[in-house]
Amino acid sequence: MELELLRDTIEAAGVIGAGGAGFPTHRKLTRGIDTVLVNAAECEPLLYTDFTILREHLDRVCEGARELCDAMGAAEVLVAMKEHTALRLGVARGEELPCGARAALLPDVYPMGDEIIMIYQALGRVVPPGQLPSAVGVVVVNAETAYNVSNAVRGVPVTEKWLTIGGAVEHPVVVRVPVNCGVRAVLRAAGVTVPAGHVVVDGGPAMGNIVNPASAVVTKKTKALLILPEEIPAIANKAAPVERLLKRVPSACCQCMYCTELCPRHLLGYPLQPHKTLRAVGAGAPGNPEELLTASLCSGCGVCTLMACCQGIAPSAAMTAVKQSLGRRRIGYRADGPTKPDPERDFRMVPVSRFKSRIGVAKFDREAEWAGGLPVAQALWRLPLSQHVGKPSEPVVAVGDGVAAGQLIAKAREGISAALHAPVAGTISRVTDTEIEMTTGEVK
Ligand code: SF4
Ligand code: SF4
Repeated sequence: MELELLRDTIEAAGVIGAGGAGFPTHRKLTRGIDTVLVNAAECEPLLYTDFTILREHLDRVCEGARELCDAMGAAEVLVAMKEHTALRLGVARGEELPCGARAALLPDVYPMGDEIIMIYQALGRVVPPGQLPSAVGVVVVNAETAYNVSNAVRGVPVTEKWLTIGGAVEHPVVVRVPVNCGVRAVLRAAGVTVPAGHVVVDGGPAMGNIVNPASAVVTKKTKALLILPEEIPAIANKAAPVERLLKRVPSACCQCMYCTELCPRHLLGYPLQPHKTLRAVGAGAPGNPEELLTASLCSGCGVCTLMACCQGIAPSAAMTAVKQSLGRRRIGYRADGPTKPDPERDFRMVPVSRFKSRIGVAKFDREAEWAGGLPVAQALWRLPLSQHVGKPSEPVVAVGDGVAAGQLIAKAREGISAALHAPVAGTISRVTDTEIEMTTGEVK
């Protein structure tokens, strides 16, 4: 398919980054690319979603990536997966996969799903700080996103989401559910209850967010719903207010630099140094503006908080707060050329086995079984218009309209935006600036 046609096709199907980033996929298509890298790293512990998609639909994942590759005039599709995933799938390093794709194997370290890290690991290229992967001729898409592209080419929009239900549950499973069904309805359908002293996390234990199951919905980005105890290190910092964490910086940070020494992006030569940003935050004003500006390069992986800092400061929370503030002002660090990775990088990377133990989730890590499509019963559906990066979707329906499953209900706006489709048949009951509400008539 020609590039412009594929771009329109993907936009019409509402495909966005399904791995958690949520960037509208059609906006990634560009010329001057030589490699499409499929991100099946399954970066965080307890997640088996991408593994399951590869096992069930490797052909469709490769087909979607091949569509992107051919439309952009790229030369190669690489499917990047961790060594343990390859072992489970019986795939060897460099093995040829469907549609002429090849397997790239990644070490079992955290984080590996960060596209900047993955590009270096799989291709030996360093994306210049503050630039996009296309600067080094690469487009990265999550495995489920590539699968959704293959659906889009068949005229099928994104109305389903694959996710792992795991953590402190009897049987971890991977299921497919309608996009925007309620978290509580999903857990109920899966027979999962949330015990006292536990929380529900949307995403992985390190980078995911605690959600209220009564009000949260599964979005196009949800990769997992994990039930985890409140007291484990992975959760304790999420629950603490950022203001409280930041207040501790001046008195508690001893400038030991461990956060910087273990930072995966710093190890790639990126100029972010969380200990210096913390010092600037603690002082109330930056001595050197670059110490704040480089926070825009933080991936939010949490290594500095969960593996490095022994003072309970949560440097990643400070980095995220500064990054968000920079983002609101549309400023950030940008370099023209690639950086040089630290020669000690290989020795400082964090093995996932150690990471799991340190953050308190090792005992919950059991391979999740594929349970297929989960029938979710709910009468009222809330469909957020911002479940992607960029401008909210623009509603094209009105109160009282009957809609069919898969029907367009909100289109992409000009610029960076994405379309939204009805996940099930129903009747539109409310349209606001932030969401569309519909009812299905099903009771519960
Ligand atoms: S690891 Fe903690 S104490 Fe050490 S410099 Fe970083 S924030 Fe400060
Ligand atoms: S969260 Fe911490 S370790 Fe991760 S990229 Fe940001 S500063 Fe580095």
